[in-house]
Amino acid sequence: MSTKVLPFSNDEIIGLTRQYQTPFHLYDEKGIRENARKLKDAFSWAPAFYEYFAVKAAPNPFLMTIFKQEGMGADCSSMAELELAKRCGIVGEDIMFSSNDTPADEFKAAKDLGAIINLDDISHIKFLEDCAGLPELVCFRYNPGSARTGNVIIGSPHEAKYGFTKDQMLDGYKILKDKGVKRFGLHAMVASNELNYQYFIDTAVMLFERVAEISKEVGIKFEFVNLGGGIGIPYRPEDNPVDLNAVSSGIKAAYEKIIVPANQHPLKIYLECGRMMTGPYGILVSKVLHIKKTYKNYVGLDACMVNLMRPALYGAYHHITVIGKENHPSDQTYDVTGSLCENNDKFAIDRKLPTVTPGDIFVIHDAGAHGHAMGFNYNGKTRSAELLRRENGTTIQIRRAETIEDLFATLDFNALKSF
Ligand SMILES: *Cc1c(COP(=O)(O)O)cnc(C)c1O
Repeated sequence: MSTKVLPFSNDEIIGLTRQYQTPFHLYDEKGIRENARKLKDAFSWAPAFYEYFAVKAAPNPFLMTIFKQEGMGADCSSMAELELAKRCGIVGEDIMFSSNDTPADEFKAAKDLGAIINLDDISHIKFLEDCAGLPELVCFRYNPGSARTGNVIIGSPHEAKYGFTKDQMLDGYKILKDKGVKRFGLHAMVASNELNYQYFIDTAVMLFERVAEISKEVGIKFEFVNLGGGIGIPYRPEDNPVDLNAVSSGIKAAYEKIIVPANQHPLKIYLECGRMMTGPYGILVSKVLHIKKTYKNYVGLDACMVNLMRPALYGAYHHITVIGKENHPSDQTYDVTGSLCENNDKFAIDRKLPTVTPGDIFVIHDAGAHGHAMGFNYNGKTRSAELLRRENGTTIQIRRAETIEDLFATLDFNALKSF
């Protein structure tokens, strides 16, 4: 069992609440870098292991640059994510473009950047050829259908919108080969926030088997498999982190058993993790505005689901620490809410907490991935700032908070005069 230890001291957090308006997101550079190195070390046996950070998890250029400095790339799925990568100096095959229902201009932008293009459907071969031309390297996203079970966040593969069937892949690689494509990749992402390390080994076995079959039948050599993201993090105090060395050694055994005899060695192993790269190293810091007692007890924060949508979206658990009250008995039961005019704007329901008073500082743990990134502006709420504590202990702002003027930037109030 892991205990939910914060990577920041109480004094540090309290100090920052005096310097910056709450709510804000705060990331720990040291934790991010150490974890990134741990991941690379775990896969040091692989011919060319590479992690493409899933930009959607935390699309901030400072965080993306940390990964670039650690020798990692960017997994993009939209025009803005491609543009962000480009502006961080991440280009060429350091970008994996794993999109779906993709517009033509995004394929074109990805091709122009020299990104690795991961196609989501067999019809996209022709679509890509028509809008941008086929690159020399193409990857397909595989959907195993009922051959695998998924989990709550991503759903069962059979019901999921993503990827090719096995037969479509066979046809698809033949088409690519006939059209002169020279280099081939294979991708799958079948789980999200999965804590069972065996799941990732099973995914690797599945992809290795496809590589062995398809290479033989179509007569091609695969260059890489991309095992996707989806490595979970211990959101709950009783959860354990995924044992990366166990994942890696299981994949290595499968590689030796399947890939080597199939004459597909060397085969590069790629991941495109987001959550595990930044999730545990970011927190949402908020202040208590109100305590309300009706049929239930409510803590009203100055943060709302605009700052972290996961609890409202999936009923996800995020641990909460009330700063300075860590040793008080958690003998009260509260719903922890934001101020949106939506009753599901809650960070926690029936959460046991110490007695809370207005002005208390709440830290919502594990908000470093799919947190700020999922922000939106409903009710005219503005997204918070993002802060980064550097390895030397200083803290810098890596994104300012939005203002109401930012929200109104697309409106022309002058046009009202003649309306
Ligand atoms: C969301 C996503 C990822 C990252 O998933 P995490 O759960 O954050 O690791 C990677 N690849 C694709 C295609 C995705 O959609």
